[in-house]
Amino acid sequence: MGTTNIPYNRPALVGKELEYITDAIKRLQLSGDGHYTEQCQNWINKRIGCAGSLLTHSCTAALEMAAILTGIGPGDEVIMPSFTFVSTANAVVLRGGKPVFVDVRPDTLNMDENLIVDAITERTKAIFTVHYAGVCSELDKIRAIADDYGLWLVEDAAQALGSTYKGRQAGSIGHLSTISFHETKNITCGEGGALIINDSRLMERAEIIREKGTNRTRFFRGQVDKYTWVDIGSSYLPGELSAAFLFGQLENVDKISAERLRLWNQYNDFLRGLGRNDFTYPHIPDHCEHNGHLYYVLMPNQEDRANFIGAMKENGIMTPFHYVPLHSAPAGMNYGRAHGPLKVTNDIAERLVRLPIFYKLGQEIDDVIKVIEKVL
Ligand SMILES: *Cc1c(COP(=O)(O)O)cnc(C)c1O
Repeated sequence: MGTTNIPYNRPALVGKELEYITDAIKRLQLSGDGHYTEQCQNWINKRIGCAGSLLTHSCTAALEMAAILTGIGPGDEVIMPSFTFVSTANAVVLRGGKPVFVDVRPDTLNMDENLIVDAITERTKAIFTVHYAGVCSELDKIRAIADDYGLWLVEDAAQALGSTYKGRQAGSIGHLSTISFHETKNITCGEGGALIINDSRLMERAEIIREKGTNRTRFFRGQVDKYTWVDIGSSYLPGELSAAFLFGQLENVDKISAERLRLWNQYNDFLRGLGRNDFTYPHIPDHCEHNGHLYYVLMPNQEDRANFIGAMKENGIMTPFHYVPLHSAPAGMNYGRAHGPLKVTNDIAERLVRLPIFYKLGQEIDDVIKVIEKVL
């Protein structure tokens, strides 16, 4: 086993990516909003059942668009978990807003819906909820809070394409939602993302913001006779080659989820079978179907985790951890505010370790499991 070399993620061709890329090149329509961008957006609209969607060059870009669309400005507060990727918070900070970090639930590691109301102030404008590991946060409760207090709800569904909440698609419940197609996600085109628009009032402005603040999209549809600068915006479109690759992946989302779930369950059965009651395993609520995005274990403490990661690495297997809680990061302290002591976030961030999971892991999972057995 000395030659084992298993990364925590490895991208794979799963369908017609090469065929579509070749076709996109032949079409010689290489900038954004061509044939394949439209194919992807149609696919997303049908799958999520949303008013519309716009492909972006990253989930980060889609989050920035969401922050603009929800009108976040200087001093406005946005409630979000601290246990998330930096882009959730940066999008708010770039508008001059203040992330207000709330603790997560110890079972799903998603923002604790019961702590949100207490974090609301007169400055609160929106809630950005994250579906960690592709398991949806408590969307019914969170949407009800948003509606009661007149707040926007944005789902950072970066990890959750293909997951459901009470039978509804992840990304279909917030006013806006964002998806990531980064190489580390289930469905990828290298760098890519999408903004999902469930509130149709935001559709027209979203198109403008994505096209550098111009009404170029309406111009191409023949709705205005010239296009001009009408609003703030940036260049948030992906090129057509990315979209062509992405379409080949999107068509296979269910196949990818099924295989990742198979691997996820194999880890879960094995680890739970160890009977270690000092380990904590992922919890999937009965009303959530997930997409096998990520498998994690909570080790007893930080030292055990470091030893585990070190020993796995010596055996050629990458088992990384994340996230440094945003409220304790330099920029988080500078630009955000922690609501309460965030005890669960601080605790789990020191103990969480991820196992390799990707579409073509296949039989190699048996090597990972053998090494875990040896190392423990
Ligand atoms: C990956 C991720 C992002 C960023 O996605 P990019 O496409 O790389 O910009 C944002 N939020 C969460 C929760 C993520 O996991």
